[in-house]
Amino acid sequence: MLEQARRLLKQVYGYDSFRKGQEAIIGGIMEGTDTLAILPTGGGKSICYQIPALLMDGTTLVVSPLISLMKDQVDALNRVGVKAAFLNSSLSAVDYRDVMRQAFQGEYKLLYVAPERLDAPMFASLSEQMHIPLIAIDEAHCVSQWGHDFRPSYRQLAGWINRMQNRPLVAAFTATATQEVSRDISDMLGLRHPKVHVTGFARDNLSLSVVTGADKPAFLRKFMSERTDQSGIVYTATRKETEQVHALLAKQGVPAGKYHGGLADAERAEAQEKFRFDDVRVMVATNAFGMGIDKPNVRFVLHWQMPGDVESYYQEAGRAGRDGEESECILLFGPQDVVVQRFLIEQGTGDTDRKSIQMSKLHNMMNYSRTQRCLQQYIVEYFGEADVEPCGKCSSCLDRSEQVDRTEDALKALSCVARLKGKFGVTTAAKVLKGSKDKRVLEWGLDRNSTYGLFSRWPEKEISDWLYWLVAEGYLGMSEGQYPTVALAAGALPVLEGRERVHQRMRTTVRKAASSAA
Ligand code: ADP
Ligand code: ZN
Repeated sequence: MLEQARRLLKQVYGYDSFRKGQEAIIGGIMEGTDTLAILPTGGGKSICYQIPALLMDGTTLVVSPLISLMKDQVDALNRVGVKAAFLNSSLSAVDYRDVMRQAFQGEYKLLYVAPERLDAPMFASLSEQMHIPLIAIDEAHCVSQWGHDFRPSYRQLAGWINRMQNRPLVAAFTATATQEVSRDISDMLGLRHPKVHVTGFARDNLSLSVVTGADKPAFLRKFMSERTDQSGIVYTATRKETEQVHALLAKQGVPAGKYHGGLADAERAEAQEKFRFDDVRVMVATNAFGMGIDKPNVRFVLHWQMPGDVESYYQEAGRAGRDGEESECILLFGPQDVVVQRFLIEQGTGDTDRKSIQMSKLHNMMNYSRTQRCLQQYIVEYFGEADVEPCGKCSSCLDRSEQVDRTEDALKALSCVARLKGKFGVTTAAKVLKGSKDKRVLEWGLDRNSTYGLFSRWPEKEISDWLYWLVAEGYLGMSEGQYPTVALAAGALPVLEGRERVHQRMRTTVRKAASSAA
């Protein structure tokens, strides 16, 4: 079987070997097991369902929310002689009927369908009229409200699939799933004893860095002047900043396009084409840009601020280096970013549950921005993949700055938190260590805590930064929810028992990694 798969890989796609994970995923599907495959963006998931589709009788249904991506994929398949089509809102009524007719005649090996197109009658007629051996569900995290892109239309899928006359195999794919999300996908889609593959999250050709507290315009100017022949993306959090950064680049004479939700469709399409064909070197954009772009030679992705969660960050950053060449992902982090993201969550439309999920995701993102651990390791572990070595080239791995022994300060903070017994947040813990006369601190009798006032000479902000640092490094942990509380984490014990010391690097404001690639 895998022989055949490999032959198709060569014949249809022209590739000599499978990537990490692809072979196991295809093998699992061909054995007839439901599959949940978590592969990073650019990891090559399409091949994982296209090859089984080619090997099986009948028409594989591909559910995908990305209309532009559907067209690209179908065009690519048609070019190599595979019969495929799509059903989505971009089709005229005539074309739609035409595709349906051919689909019912079994003309296609693959049929892509947008989730909005699917309803109970549609599913019933597809399953009555066609032989469907496999349903591939792309962007499967959309089914989970723990994911960052929840879509109600995905929720219905399980019901319809399970009501089909001959329930097909189901293979769900996503680039972004933490353990909670994977569990949720599996439950919500009603996967039957699925084989779960988590693979390939480490991207060897990406150098990740976090630059804290930089003068951003100055940083940008230098950064661009050192990369005059490279293509890249600058992501901003808001449309206004897209405009501002775009103007900065124009002033510097850098050929740049811009892309955000406030521009006309035609303008956006033009910008995207110019970028794709290297007419402009740099794209400045909000997160509206990128769903489905597959430009191979993006050499850098620069984030003007911290995004709201690690999933979004890695998905956006991961658009660099799709061709496998060395590329950079730089996050410019300022304390203000946290305020902005909090504001966005608070003003957002979600209910309380949703907001507290977003808050805890934000905390994980903040931890990424502050950690001294290998950034690649941090991300890969966040996605649930284990046993990955430090990358050796992220800003943490390259950080040669001085290490300072801060065990004494850590012990004070840890003792304070231990005595608060997980009932209070970082702000309150900081007030206790400060020895604050805050009304509530006194009301709750926290001034009787033996660690009260241990850091009386520190500014309160510095104390909470110190506590957040201890969180980021795994000495303290924070609960989820709107009012997260802080408690000891696994890393605290060896320190409290005197078996380990706590070292902190003294960072210079602009770290080296991002300016060293000249
Ligand atoms: P994803 O959907 O996971 O983001 P794609 O399926 O679009 O990724 O694949 C990303 C790129 O990698 C595509 O250009 C694809 O042709 C290429 N690719 C996939 N599998 C292989 C392979 N085994 N060898 C070489 N290139 C591959
Ligand atoms: Zn590293």
